[in-house]
Amino acid sequence: MRGKKGSPKLSSHEKPTMNDVVYIVLDSCRYDAWEAAATPNLDRLGVVERRWAYASWTSPSHQVLLMGLLPHASPAGVHASEVYRHELLGWRERLGAPELEFAGFLPQLNLPTALKRLGYRTMGRVSLPVLNQYTVFATGFDDYRLMASHADFAGMIAEMNFEPDRPSFWFLNLGETHYPYLLPPGDAPHLHGLHGVVKDLAGGTGPAVVGTGCDPAEMARLRAAQVRALEVVDGLMPALYAKLPADAWVIVTADHGELFGEDGYFGHGPVMHPKVFEVPLVEGRRPA
Ligand SMILES: [Zn+2]
Repeated sequence: MRGKKGSPKLSSHEKPTMNDVVYIVLDSCRYDAWEAAATPNLDRLGVVERRWAYASWTSPSHQVLLMGLLPHASPAGVHASEVYRHELLGWRERLGAPELEFAGFLPQLNLPTALKRLGYRTMGRVSLPVLNQYTVFATGFDDYRLMASHADFAGMIAEMNFEPDRPSFWFLNLGETHYPYLLPPGDAPHLHGLHGVVKDLAGGTGPAVVGTGCDPAEMARLRAAQVRALEVVDGLMPALYAKLPADAWVIVTADHGELFGEDGYFGHGPVMHPKVFEVPLVEGRRPA
């Protein structure tokens, strides 16, 4: 059994008291895809917010997410350092660790490393090859692995477990909402910049500019496919909730958005457009 809640200071004779945490990143999921999708199970976590990613593609965005900074709200009139401090101290409530201080993230500024110091078991499962276990993103994790399949949230849930005597942190990068949005093989278009450059990046991301080929009907079809992919993820949330301890904290967000033909762009990466930074965020305790 765990000890009294609310004390993150541990000795070898004390048992951890913090919440189990599940942190889900829906790769490439647009905020308005969430608005368009039926998400009855995700909605049980709370009201989804519109936030802004710090970067426009997977690798730099995950660097910031794994520092412990969630996508920001773009607040005016506040110095950036105060925003960072406020955001990092948001982990007090998520973890159930009211005594956590900003210094707890130093000097590494790496979320899983900070959580390990608090006694967490740190687990990572990722879908995008650019985040594989040989990269810096595995830093601070006890167990971190690229999934064999690009879109296997169900497999991640099946692997998840929790321990009675120490809290677990599960970081999940989901490929379902990333291109090709669960479309069957052959049903996704062959687009320059995806099947060329992206493949060379071992399934990461690449130049988003298509130039030609942003056929409106095709873009609408792909956008609808991302909405459906999010609904598939939503349909798996009850299986996740069923696995979680009662006090578990769940965060769901995206690393960046996606362009579906707006201003001549498709995808994400080296592109400056609001829709590639606009992302959803919802978090809260495991629904009862
Ligand atoms: Zn991504």
